[in-house]
Amino acid sequence: MMIEVNEGYCKGCNLCIIFCPRKALEESQVLNKKGVHIPVEIEDRCVGCRLCELICPDFAITVETDDKMKISAGKKKAVT
Ligand code: SF4
Ligand code: SF4
Repeated sequence: MMIEVNEGYCKGCNLCIIFCPRKALEESQVLNKKGVHIPVEIEDRCVGCRLCELICPDFAITVETDDKMKISAGKKKAVT
């Protein structure tokens, strides 16, 4: 899993799903407290480009890359 979605932050605008160049996200069956279907990653499609993270207006997505570095909102920190 490379994509983490903060359920509480997501408002279900679907911008991440629409703009992902790899079509790697889709609506899940999970409803959050706002009553929206949060996005979920489709296996083996994501290339870690981070467009979804950058485009999300509510900072609800974090992309975790293969090199175990967590990149969020322009900051890098090592995952321990
Ligand atoms: S862009 Fe952000 S708020 Fe909109 S559906 Fe995706 S994760 Fe949720
Ligand atoms: S990191 Fe890029 S390829 Fe992966 S889900 Fe986000 S927009 Fe799509």
